[in-house]
Amino acid sequence: MTTDLTTLLDDVLRRNAGEPEFHQAAREVFDSLGPVIARNPRYAEAAVLERLCEPERQIIFRVPWTDDAGRVQINRGFRVEFNSALGPFKGGLRFHPTVTLGTVKFLGFEQIFKNALTGLPIGGGKGGSDFDPKGKSDAEVMRFCQSFMTELYRHLGEYTDVPAGDIGVGGREIGYLFGQYKRITNRYESGVLTGKGIGWGGSLVRTEATGFGAVVFADRMLSTRGRSFDGARVLVSGSGNVAIYAIQKVQQLGGTVVACSDSSGVVYDRDGLDLDLLREIKEQRRGRLSDYADARGTASDYRAGGDIWALAAETTIDVAIPCATQNELGGDAARTLASNGVAAVVEGANMPCTPEAVKVLTAAGVLFAPGKAANAGGVATSALEMQQNASRDAWSFDYAESRLAEIMVGIHDRCAETADEYGAPGDYVLGANIAGFTRVADAMIAMGVI
Ligand code: NDP
Repeated sequence: MTTDLTTLLDDVLRRNAGEPEFHQAAREVFDSLGPVIARNPRYAEAAVLERLCEPERQIIFRVPWTDDAGRVQINRGFRVEFNSALGPFKGGLRFHPTVTLGTVKFLGFEQIFKNALTGLPIGGGKGGSDFDPKGKSDAEVMRFCQSFMTELYRHLGEYTDVPAGDIGVGGREIGYLFGQYKRITNRYESGVLTGKGIGWGGSLVRTEATGFGAVVFADRMLSTRGRSFDGARVLVSGSGNVAIYAIQKVQQLGGTVVACSDSSGVVYDRDGLDLDLLREIKEQRRGRLSDYADARGTASDYRAGGDIWALAAETTIDVAIPCATQNELGGDAARTLASNGVAAVVEGANMPCTPEAVKVLTAAGVLFAPGKAANAGGVATSALEMQQNASRDAWSFDYAESRLAEIMVGIHDRCAETADEYGAPGDYVLGANIAGFTRVADAMIAMGVI
């Protein structure tokens, strides 16, 4: 990193004290940008990076609601509207007890570059709450969502800010949020939220998009080394939305996913996971992986509190796809994967690999795809949902999936070509950061100092 960039990063870290995940995301981007700033002095002259690191708007609000026992509960709501140079702010809402302003800022910052990489007209934002939907009744989740939207609605709009789901926010929550927005505004503004139900403005393939897209990206990346998913043995961490559809796409491409996880443990099915059973337990029953293992009997080995990546030392693994949460794959796990011959690690989640893990993997020659490129299929399909809403249209599954695949291949190739152009072939982190940055930076310069 040049001295100027180091000074700038120090300033960003100082101004955003106590937000380690945001620091981590910013540092990773700064690490990549030296060559592009050196080639294009106009970016420094227009203070593009300084402006990019300062969200356009940050909203923090109280969310009071009443639980089933009649007790008043208070949560904190966030929406960080980071950058709208390319389109309305776009990015999901996360409901999880660990959510802080720093979490939302890291996710929103990543989202700017991710959205730019899709080539679609969407800016970057993110939001959420420290509310924990786990163990809550539907009625409690509804009351929480209604209270959350009663404050947030004034900042949203199909041309302003368009949230979607993330951890803890799926179809049920989007339904309650949309219902309250519609009620307050007296407008059926479909384009204000994405991830809607298929019968009321949702897009086919949105549910599958992030997981499917990550595997399409991975497949394209593997092909650069003459490899594919056919016959590959794969680890997928998590067992939520992204994980489930990553598993499905790997299976469709001829691979075998032998393990997945949740925050309580790992299931290892040496001959491959039973996806229908997994979906029934996670999506319909909202159950745990321990329930899956109980139902599967001897075909499944459940390891309470286990580490999914350690399985690479026990059985052959070709590809690892972390799809749970940030910093879930550290240096030790990366060493286990690399020393046992894993060919590729593909981030389905946002920033699941620690900086040390990325260093270990890339030094060992393992193909590495950063989340901002590999998991962009979710937001890309959200933009396709907005497109369908705007034209009062609904596409077929096959058509929506073909658009998704085309976008993912495009993102892959843009990252790979940018890495080549900057003399770092195979460096998808550098390629993604520079390609995403350039698109946003050029738009910001065109629009003047705002
Ligand atoms: P879900 O809530 O559907 O699933 C999350 C999964 O990760 C669950 O299995 C959960 O287990 C596990 N998990 C969550 N937090 C932890 C933790 N602290 N430790 C261990 N496991 C954990 O979320 P999604 O699948 O939607 O999101 C997963 C990741 O993908 C996130 O990083 C998200 O930002 C990213 N992403 C999601 C997109 C989408 O379209 N949904 C788009 C792009 C990125 P448990 O049930 O035990 O909590």
